[in-house]
Amino acid sequence: MIREGDKVLLIDRRGKRYLVTVSNREFHTDLGIINLGELLNKSYGDTLTSHKGEEFKILKPDINDIIAKMKRGPQIVHPKDAGIIIAYAGISPGDTVIEAGVGSGALTIFLANIVGPAGKVISYEVREDFARIAQKNVELAGFSDRVTIKLKNIYEGIDEDYADHIVLDLPQPENVLPHAVEVLRPGGYFVAYTPCMNQVHRFFQALQEYRDHFYKPRVVEVLVREHEVKKECMRPKTTMLAHTGYITFLRKL
Ligand code: SAM
Repeated sequence: MIREGDKVLLIDRRGKRYLVTVSNREFHTDLGIINLGELLNKSYGDTLTSHKGEEFKILKPDINDIIAKMKRGPQIVHPKDAGIIIAYAGISPGDTVIEAGVGSGALTIFLANIVGPAGKVISYEVREDFARIAQKNVELAGFSDRVTIKLKNIYEGIDEDYADHIVLDLPQPENVLPHAVEVLRPGGYFVAYTPCMNQVHRFFQALQEYRDHFYKPRVVEVLVREHEVKKECMRPKTTMLAHTGYITFLRKL
């Protein structure tokens, strides 16, 4: 059932996607004008027709649609990296995750989606402008009920006294180690996403002092090679996202 105010995904015959809000307004595209009020009489999977007779498929947007269309501040964590963070750390419904920095809120949205309505994501951010963008993106994704964005430098401390997991995407994750050992539950994960190898090296030097608190660390990099499938030829695409970041996993003992 599609209701007033719902976010809806429209897909045209070329595969172009539009994220719209159900209202009594018109939406202009190069394939014609769409009356968004007509969505109220439709169901997901139906089609909507523009004044030029062009058809648009109606789908319920998922978090990837939201992230693709939302406003961005800094570089976001790519879905391939968010996926492995969630899978390797075993992040589950009901978990409390402390995150920093929030940036554009993409990783926040992936985390909020997996912890579900019974879980919590508490996200630290030092920049007010990014915190504002992330807050709007979290609202767009419908996760305001479980996400708290705090304007605070996480290097200076963690206010909460408990976390199932701590997930970091900021320049110096080693500065969070002394706070993490205080609040992370045994068995929970400390995850650090860092784009550069020298950050990983610096992190491991700092980790020496905290080694007794963690099970043996794991560092991974995720490469996804997409393929193009054509009638006469199936092969890897000639370009790929070659590098995003290194992900370090530490399990609290
Ligand atoms: N993971 C985010 C996403 O997927 O949209 C992107 C994070 S962005 C690359 C890094 C963020 O960390 C920036 O917004 C920056 O302001 C924030 N940051 C850097 N140092 C911080 C600190 N000490 N405490 C909190 N946030 C911090």
